[in-house]
Amino acid sequence: MTAELFLPEYVYHGTFLHNVSFFKQKPLDRTKWRTDSTHYLKDFGDGLYTNADLEQAQIFSKRKLRTTSDLEAKPAVIKFRVNPVKYPSDDILVFSGMSQEWSDYIYNHRMVKAEPCVHHHSIIIGPIADGNFKEIFQQFSRSRHQDVQANYNWFRTHITFNKLTNKSYTDKEIGTQIVFCNDQLNILHYESHYILEPYHRQERWKEV
Ligand SMILES: [Zn+2]
Repeated sequence: MTAELFLPEYVYHGTFLHNVSFFKQKPLDRTKWRTDSTHYLKDFGDGLYTNADLEQAQIFSKRKLRTTSDLEAKPAVIKFRVNPVKYPSDDILVFSGMSQEWSDYIYNHRMVKAEPCVHHHSIIIGPIADGNFKEIFQQFSRSRHQDVQANYNWFRTHITFNKLTNKSYTDKEIGTQIVFCNDQLNILHYESHYILEPYHRQERWKEV
């Protein structure tokens, strides 16, 4: 089966302001993807995680602030223009909504230290599970099963459960990420970035 993929014209990446210059020079750079061994592994493995939705990327960059001890760090969102070229369909993996396959793929990349794929795809699209992974890891180490399938099932229930509403997330709540995992792709170009500025005793995002 072959499929054609059309990516959005722009994608957004939440980061820190001091990283903006790197992204201007080289949007995709493998050496930046796992710089800190204390970081938890990511949903779809090493790569640049982007979002077609600016607001989601803004929320993400603010959330990222909580993970750093650098008090000078400021949030920023990069806007990338996407090259409208054709990509080989065997190099693209799409999870169009939450499913067991999607959850298993994240389990394999987050819970197993070594890269689990024989060939890791260059572009991966699917729902975001980047919630309370610290907590999920702690619970998992306490309740880990002998039965492998039971672990997969346990994992799916926990990554899709929203503790605030006491219900499973809907696809709309969870959002979609577009991940670029191959730094040889000439696909993204820096367009602009967004910073937070003070506004009537609060703050708002401004494109610069
Ligand atoms: Zn992989």
